Amino acid sequence: MALPEIITIDGPAASGKSTIGRMVAETLGYLFFDTGIMYRAVTWLVLERGIDTTDIPRVIQLAEDINIDVREPTVDDGRIYDILANGTDITWKVHSPEVDANVSQVSTYPGVRNALTQQQRRIGLRGRVVMVGRDIGTVVLPEAELKIYLDASAEERARRRFRERSARGEAVDFQEILSSMRQRDQIDSTREVAPLRPAEDAVVLNSDLLSAEQVFNQIMALMNKT
Ligand code: C5P
Repeated sequence: MALPEIITIDGPAASGKSTIGRMVAETLGYLFFDTGIMYRAVTWLVLERGIDTTDIPRVIQLAEDINIDVREPTVDDGRIYDILANGTDITWKVHSPEVDANVSQVSTYPGVRNALTQQQRRIGLRGRVVMVGRDIGTVVLPEAELKIYLDASAEERARRRFRERSARGEAVDFQEILSSMRQRDQIDSTREVAPLRPAEDAVVLNSDLLSAEQVFNQIMALMNKT
């Protein structure tokens, strides 16, 4: 049976989308594309330039002009790739608490979504891709043959983020991570354009009690059914 050409994985923050998406892509020899990085890169640049996040026309202009590049890692510091915005290495900066606190707001603007969605769709339609985000199965690539919606409780997701950040030597506070994550979930799932929700034809998996390996195995088993 033919493998799906396009696989989408959507779900809330830290539900395991990137880890699992990368495992699937690597196994199939597909491109892995994390769309969250694009929203994060725009948000980083907005903050860097001192633009008010509520100045919608300027934020949209920046989203239309930004040049985001993801490429092989050039620094051996635990990164899996380099993320560049207009040539500047922002690999770690896109995961800062400041970006976390503002990215969902920036992502509500239809003009920002429009600019980024067009680029995502162009990349996705080439096929042999695993694309992860919030609206990939519903808006960006509704024609995908296999759509996964990966969920987990807020507590479990905050624990994962806490462990990741502690391992990187960052001073982190669990309650802060949990409340920032809940706030992001709330904005992402209630916005008017492209809210976070499973596509009607998505397979919903809850990873609370599953290891990454187990979720990966379930997704690979689904391949044979598409
Ligand atoms: O996946 P990640 O947590 O890196 O995404 C950061 C933010 O980017 C999300 O909280 C959401 O506001 C936004 N996002 C989005 N649509 C996507 C991917 C991310 O709105 N497809």
